[in-house]
Amino acid sequence: MSMQENLERIEERISRACAKAVRARDEVRLVAVSKTHPPEKIREAMACGLTLFGESKVQEAAPKISMCPSGLEWHFIGHLQTNKARRAVELFRMIHSVDSLRLLEAVNAAAHEAGRVTPVCIEVNVSGEISKYGLPPGDLQALLEGATKLFSVEIVGLMTMPPWSENAEKARPVFAALRALRAQCDQEWGFPLTELSMGMSHDFEVAIEEGATMIRVGSDLFGDRHYEA
Ligand SMILES: *Cc1c(COP(=O)(O)O)cnc(C)c1O
Repeated sequence: MSMQENLERIEERISRACAKAVRARDEVRLVAVSKTHPPEKIREAMACGLTLFGESKVQEAAPKISMCPSGLEWHFIGHLQTNKARRAVELFRMIHSVDSLRLLEAVNAAAHEAGRVTPVCIEVNVSGEISKYGLPPGDLQALLEGATKLFSVEIVGLMTMPPWSENAEKARPVFAALRALRAQCDQEWGFPLTELSMGMSHDFEVAIEEGATMIRVGSDLFGDRHYEA
């Protein structure tokens, strides 16, 4: 199937999920996850009308972004090491995956040096599974308080990755928990946040029903990823 056909199917799925949840289509942004795919694929996606791309590795994205036309919006969605914060801030408009105050401080310092304010989401490990990444929900309030002293980052939302399951319904409680946490940020702690970055190829309908504002879709758009050995 062509990428245009893949995108049409994705758009149909998004529209159906929005209709079911009584949400407007423009409340949900599609982040095209282009990791492992070459610049030609990104140009093909651009020809289909896409302008927002997600990458998960700084070292992979740096040469790729420089080979792509300017005017695209790039988001970082992967695990970020503090020593790559500067490069990430230079390359990316937004970072979805900040999971510690230490990393937030590194991003803040880099953004300050670059003379910009970088919007970020905080990646939260809501499922409490033994996952490598994501802030424990119990640490979120302290991070938000700590961030009030950082003027070159703006926390705009929360992000999560549910444990992988073939059954997308298994992710629903995780997505619902992220939305509840966002409500808690606003109503109990006084930090209103707009974004919920959640949902991937196989479960984004459920994420949209639970309030996702950004879905991160790779394989259903670009096809399977082939990792180099
Ligand atoms: C790869 C990746 C995605 C996209 O996953 P697909 O299943 O290919 O849609 C989304 N989010 C993150 C953080 C990823 O690393």
